[in-house]
Amino acid sequence: MKQQNYINGKWLTGEGYKRDIINPSTEEILETVYEASSKQVNQAVDAAQAAFDQGIWNSDPLLRAKTLQKIADKLETQSEEFAVIETENTGKPIREARLDIEDTVGCLRYYAQLIEQQKAEEITQWDGSISQVRNVPIGVCALIVPWNFPLLLGMWKIAPALAAGNTIVFKPSEVTPLSMIKMTEIIDESGMPEGVFNLLLGDGKAVGEKLVIHQNVSKISFTGGTETGKAINEQCSRTFKRVSLELGGKSPLLIFDDADLNLAVEWAIFGAFFNQGEVCVASSRILVEEKIYPAFLEKLVKMTKNISLGDPLMDDTEMGPLVSENHLKKVESYIQTGLKEGATLVTGGKRINEKGYYMTPVIFTDVTSEMDIVQEEVFGPFCVIQTFNTEAEAISLANGTIFGLAAGVLSADVVRAERVAARIQAGTIWINSYHTPFVNAPWGGFKQSGLGRELGPQGLASYSEPKHINVTQQVNKLGWYSS
Ligand code: NAD
Repeated sequence: MKQQNYINGKWLTGEGYKRDIINPSTEEILETVYEASSKQVNQAVDAAQAAFDQGIWNSDPLLRAKTLQKIADKLETQSEEFAVIETENTGKPIREARLDIEDTVGCLRYYAQLIEQQKAEEITQWDGSISQVRNVPIGVCALIVPWNFPLLLGMWKIAPALAAGNTIVFKPSEVTPLSMIKMTEIIDESGMPEGVFNLLLGDGKAVGEKLVIHQNVSKISFTGGTETGKAINEQCSRTFKRVSLELGGKSPLLIFDDADLNLAVEWAIFGAFFNQGEVCVASSRILVEEKIYPAFLEKLVKMTKNISLGDPLMDDTEMGPLVSENHLKKVESYIQTGLKEGATLVTGGKRINEKGYYMTPVIFTDVTSEMDIVQEEVFGPFCVIQTFNTEAEAISLANGTIFGLAAGVLSADVVRAERVAARIQAGTIWINSYHTPFVNAPWGGFKQSGLGRELGPQGLASYSEPKHINVTQQVNKLGWYSS
């Protein structure tokens, strides 16, 4: 099928670049997609603007809640089909793709319920007037996501943006658009008014940038790399376009000596290598208390070598291929960097299988804080291990990068873990667990990991403008001037 862009309630063939979408496990072409042209970017924004101006969607919260629930119902019945598409396109193990779909359904339902409960606030003022404060939609929102969780991260934006009453133009990553094309079929059948949701395929240059600078786009919500985020932020600041940025990370997992060693090893592997380590919050820096370091490292290396790496469609596969040849090369280049910097490669970094972008998970030791492999986001199955002797040292190491997305603390002493968490500069901190996103709690970064928050009520608020209307029942005499 050539018609993969969706504008004003109609499927259209993209008039821009023609791109083959590759299965990273087999290197076979999954689909050829036809991306949008500049003209089609303008058409999509015009359609979203017209739908917003028409007002059917933004004036009816019940319609919005019902439509989101309908989409959730349909997605739930097709969840296995979606999980397979996601696995084939990204390379993530099917058991992880299933979790993504479950969380996507949960996100739709959460925002459907939240919007039904929203009420305007009324304040009776000292002069007897009434101040009504409501959260109103912003307008046309352009939503741009990366390739690692195509459907889930997409829905973290789509559900609150639509729930708040906005109209949207959505751009998936050019590498992994397939699940969102399928999702658009469900949206198309949901009865949503034409032009409320528009899908444009394309890369950052041909489509992303055009959306960012478009004068009728009122908000950009972007998830992706920190460098791209900086460029987008600069563009948006010129016209005070609203912007949310979910960017990169180099998150630490702090392991204290009172943590159960076997459990700590398992959580460390899960934190660093879940989704092949292609996770913004991956615990790619493991900070271990010196006393337990030798025993911890021995167990960590042993268990890492046992990770079952292979066909991501198999139920028992624990790690799949990286998303693309280019990305695999980028991760490999960091192995060379680490070796040049004098760190020790304890395990991993080998390609396996003749076909597919598979690489064994990497652990580096003997690293120092100045090294690039400790400071820069690699975004793959790649972790570095550092040690500490005191709580203060652990906190200082944890805070020692430009990022502040997430962190984890493992300790039997929860009071201590909370004390440490209070001093770590990160948007999400898990104590004695890792990775779970909770749809009703905020997600986002401190420092150069982003701007604003997704999920929770904060996620909805980021797609609204607070509006204050002050009502006096009749025009009274003012008496301010003498004549
Ligand atoms: P990327 O920045 O290269 O691209 C992300 C998206 O932006 C893609 O859709 C791309 O086409 C588009 N894009 C690229 N340049 C653009 C521009 N100038 N204007 C507008 N759009 C543009 O990132 P990626 O390689 O796809 O994803 C990996 C990055 O995403 C990592 O840094 C990772 O940490 C980050 N990420 C962050 C979160 C989070 O929640 N904070 C979640 C997932 C991924």
